[in-house]
Amino acid sequence: MAQIIDGKMISTMIKDECKERVAAYKEQGKEICLAVIQVGNDPASSVYVNNKKKACAYIGIESLSYELEEETTQDELLKLIEELNGRKDVNGILVQLPVPGHIDENAIIRAIDPKKDVDGFHPQSVGALCIGQPGFVSCTPAGIIELLKRSNVDICGKNCVVIGRSNIVGKPMALLMLRENATVTVAHSKTQDLREICKRADILIVAIGKPKFIDASYVKEGAVVIDVGIHRNENNKLCGDVDFESVSKVASAITPVPGGVGPMTIAMLMKNCVDSVLLQ
Ligand code: NAP
Repeated sequence: MAQIIDGKMISTMIKDECKERVAAYKEQGKEICLAVIQVGNDPASSVYVNNKKKACAYIGIESLSYELEEETTQDELLKLIEELNGRKDVNGILVQLPVPGHIDENAIIRAIDPKKDVDGFHPQSVGALCIGQPGFVSCTPAGIIELLKRSNVDICGKNCVVIGRSNIVGKPMALLMLRENATVTVAHSKTQDLREICKRADILIVAIGKPKFIDASYVKEGAVVIDVGIHRNENNKLCGDVDFESVSKVASAITPVPGGVGPMTIAMLMKNCVDSVLLQ
């Protein structure tokens, strides 16, 4: 049976470290503040936004909440972002995605000052990651690196396969694994012989967005498997992109869903908020 990589425990550790750093900044008279903008009232987005605000309170930073109506225009949203970009007391700006269809998501991401881009989605942040310069890194992939390191998984020189090439998970994940000196393969929907490619992986990171897609037949004996997916099954229970039951019998370590990658995303957002002081 595989070792279970405990994302809940590791994320709490990271938030507690953030809490200590925030306290130290407060002693120097530095306060940290995250502005969270939500357009519309999509219930899933509201849950995420509330969790982010709760995490801010936990580590001791302020959160400013902007709950805008569904009908908010792109110009109105851009104006708010511009105002927040200019405010010295605001360190991080986060627009909860997705935004309603009449708003161009890319224009919104580009409008955020890269120095306040705690989600790490701005093209400048992505470019900085690509060429190894300082900048914010997308929270979910950054959290996966922390999970691996804090579980003593050796990354250097290992074969890593990332399934998925989205801008928020797959691509930054591949870049981060490369930065950690893994030999990286990125698979996607046009990849041929996915099973054979996955079977070569020492570390298999699955961000495919399909419930229980990866079973034991894709996994090399002793591989480390990271499951990024989150889905609700027919009984309303959470599951991932990986068939945990079969894969945990062949992997040496695996993240569960829930309690694996999920909690890391908010922990890394908090870390980005605290790190913003260093970048600004
Ligand atoms: P996405 O944008 O839908 O990307 C899915 C990727 O999987 C695409 O690159 C797609 O390839 C690839 N893919 C689809 N079918 C495939 C197949 N049969 N074989 C190989 N590759 C295939 O999803 P995402 O935003 O990256 O998210 C992935 C999963 O992670 C979702 O379940 C999402 O809910 C979850 N997620 C979790 C967190 C968290 O905090 N835990 C955060 C973000 C996302 P193409 O590019 O060719 O279409």
